[in-house]
Amino acid sequence: MEQKIKGKCKYCGKEYTGSYMGRHLSACKARQARIMEEKGSKRCGYFELKIYFKYNKDYWLFVEVSENAALRDVDNFLRDIWLECCGHLSAFRIGEISYESMPAGNFFWGEPPRSMNHKLKTVLEKGMTIDYEYDFGSTTELKITVSDYRIGYYKKEKLTLLSRNNPPVFLCDNCGKKPAVIVRPEYMWDDMGFLCEDCEKEIGSEDDFVLNVCNSPRMGVCGYEGSDIYPDQFEPDQQ
Ligand SMILES: [Zn+2]
Ligand SMILES: [Zn+2]
Ligand SMILES: [Zn+2]
Repeated sequence: MEQKIKGKCKYCGKEYTGSYMGRHLSACKARQARIMEEKGSKRCGYFELKIYFKYNKDYWLFVEVSENAALRDVDNFLRDIWLECCGHLSAFRIGEISYESMPAGNFFWGEPPRSMNHKLKTVLEKGMTIDYEYDFGSTTELKITVSDYRIGYYKKEKLTLLSRNNPPVFLCDNCGKKPAVIVRPEYMWDDMGFLCEDCEKEIGSEDDFVLNVCNSPRMGVCGYEGSDIYPDQFEPDQQ
């Protein structure tokens, strides 16, 4: 189900869909003005990444990352904003090569896995789309497109969040009226997974396994309860 969920631009606060946001970010006047204000002595290349959930493109992020950052920095960011539940393994897959959070010695075919210490400038190129997986059991699969590249002044932050989708609203499966606040993974197949506060009190039981509704492709999976660091609703610099 494509809901075409919008998100806000960090610089001007305007809302666009995930498919249009990339074009907006390269044309945004507020962003251009901010880039013009940057100064310094060192220059640095920046990749713009569009990151989205493989099975529902309404979960999306735009980030700008220094080309000197490592894959591990992107992995840490993805864990912080969308994924971390209990320290599972993760991997980027670029062409035939896998870059893993804990590269194991044994492999079945092709190239042996590498570590995530590789810098982005050694593995990425504008235009490529790569795969990412978190947790090799209950896997959350993401796609990462290198949507742009620019050279600018060196910034302290390796990674800047430019935009993310607004939180999708899931209506309660019981009353169909109020937004759900909890999800019960065991009832998802019966279409009774999402419950609002009132209905949880009414029909929920203490034995139910419940997780928070949150703005993440990992909602309802394993023990994922949402991010402690990033609010579900992205706050732009300018409203
Ligand atoms: Zn903008
Ligand atoms: Zn877990
Ligand atoms: Zn309800």
